[in-house]
Amino acid sequence: MVFCRNCGNQMDDIANVCVRCGVQKGRGNYYCPNCGHQTAPDAAMCTQCGIGLGPGGAMPGAKSKLTAGLLGIFLGAFGVHNFYLGYTGKAVAQLLITVLSCFILSEVSYIWGLIEGIMILTGSINTDGHGQPLGE
Ligand SMILES: [Zn+2]
Ligand SMILES: [Zn+2]
Repeated sequence: MVFCRNCGNQMDDIANVCVRCGVQKGRGNYYCPNCGHQTAPDAAMCTQCGIGLGPGGAMPGAKSKLTAGLLGIFLGAFGVHNFYLGYTGKAVAQLLITVLSCFILSEVSYIWGLIEGIMILTGSINTDGHGQPLGE
């Protein structure tokens, strides 16, 4: 559960746009996305729940860039980083390449995962499978 930062409306986790005001999730700076408490537009954190409100700050429940990147580098052959980020289609493809080839082609998915891991760490990939910005 998140709250629209523009109007304070409760939003579905999967919704990308507020149904009440039409503003994109995470846009606006009048309400805390975590607890719905009204906040000062320039507040750095919510006075009610203490969550950081920096501009472009990661949403609550945002996937960790560092975790995803390291998973890609070390376990990319199994698509673990893509499972983690919710890119299930890509994740299954990487896993199947590795498993169905009895690891003969694991290098292919390993390098694929390695490159994606590096892209995640460098910010070339900066959203998860649902379009949510990654956290630190
Ligand atoms: Zn709204
Ligand atoms: Zn709050």
